[in-house]
Amino acid sequence: MTTNSELQALRESAVPRGVSTMLKTFTARAENAELWDVEGKRYIDFASGIAVLNTGHRHPKVTAAVRDQLEQFTHSCFQVAPYETYLRLADRLNRLVPGPTPKKTILLTTGAEAVENAVKIARAHTGRPGVVAFSGGFHGRTMMTMAMTGKVAPYKVGFGPFPGEVYHLPFPIEYHGITVDQSLSALDRLFSSDIEPGRVAALIVEPVQGEGGFYIAPPRFLQALREVTEKHGIVLVIDEIQTGFARTGRMLAVEYAGIEPDLVTMAKSLAGGFPLSAVTGKADIMDAPVPGGLGGTYGGSPIACAASHAVIDAIEEEGLCERAVEIGELMRGRLEAMQKTNDLGPVVGDVRGLGAMVAMELVHEGDATKPAPQLTKDLVARCAEKGLIILACGVRSNVIRFLVPLTASDELIDEGMGILKDAMTELVSA
Ligand code: PMP
Repeated sequence: MTTNSELQALRESAVPRGVSTMLKTFTARAENAELWDVEGKRYIDFASGIAVLNTGHRHPKVTAAVRDQLEQFTHSCFQVAPYETYLRLADRLNRLVPGPTPKKTILLTTGAEAVENAVKIARAHTGRPGVVAFSGGFHGRTMMTMAMTGKVAPYKVGFGPFPGEVYHLPFPIEYHGITVDQSLSALDRLFSSDIEPGRVAALIVEPVQGEGGFYIAPPRFLQALREVTEKHGIVLVIDEIQTGFARTGRMLAVEYAGIEPDLVTMAKSLAGGFPLSAVTGKADIMDAPVPGGLGGTYGGSPIACAASHAVIDAIEEEGLCERAVEIGELMRGRLEAMQKTNDLGPVVGDVRGLGAMVAMELVHEGDATKPAPQLTKDLVARCAEKGLIILACGVRSNVIRFLVPLTASDELIDEGMGILKDAMTELVSA
């Protein structure tokens, strides 16, 4: 048997440190919301491979669909020899994105690639250069998406210069005293001090900031952004890469705001572990780039399309949006109970979430201005030792985010929350 420590040594010698790995153990197999390493140790998976496995590891419908597709063909390149599953998926996504305007969809491979394409499409449509994004937002690691990402360390360190004409606004965060009105007036200021609205192609926003710390955009904020962008002919891009596919209790989180986006970027849980992303948007905007201007060798891979159809079937047939709401209530209940205890109360600064996109922000002395990044890091490591995989996030690196597969049972979630509480109690009382 190859041991974890042998593989860790190989990881250090063969793979650059730039791609950091959270666990020091190596995955051998996984099933629904559990995972086993090469030495047979079991983990409860509250990370879902960073929001990819809303339908769990190896969902039976997804594995069956992929197996069937493997028997037909695995790659022909949509741009060379197109296939029906791509068209049917585009048609399905066109109907999933809210609003009455006819939609079109392009399929790609990664989240960053979807965002890159959204910018290309918005620029081709408007003939304008500018892109407005938010501090704390995350849109990817390619050159343009890195420029749009609103967090320097570690994403931007040493990688500049970045593409120009990207501007950042403060994201409304009640817990940190940034109001919706403050964010909106920062947009006014941007238009008067940095770039006139007539030169802005796109404004991109996550309905819930993911990597940035699970901060929820109030519906009123998204509605106001819709109004302003509409007024100035700016393409409103909603980045649903982390929030999409039932995670927040709706197929797409933007549904809570009741607005029609111009473009939506999707990836991650769109295909339950197979690399697939999409840009769906208003047909006239999507049709702006010239024939041949969009594409990619692997975009809309037949295997990933098969997986995605099965994922959407599973969400619809198994009521996973409703389940996300239940899971969110269950988890927030457990976290709020921890917050009420004498020993853990002072460190659990905030508990928040939309559906099953749940987080707690760790601080010192109950003070929002005193983040606890070391405690957060230690908690991730202690939970891993005890067999629970959780993820940290946040501009201050002091948020624990929970992305439980929506197919997980209450019992498994309880077991995971028990491990979390024990680990926190040990660390706080040490
Ligand atoms: N946008 C958001 C909101 C994301 O959460 C991520 C990934 N964490 C991306 C874009 C980039 O996706 P990918 O890593 O697939 O390029």
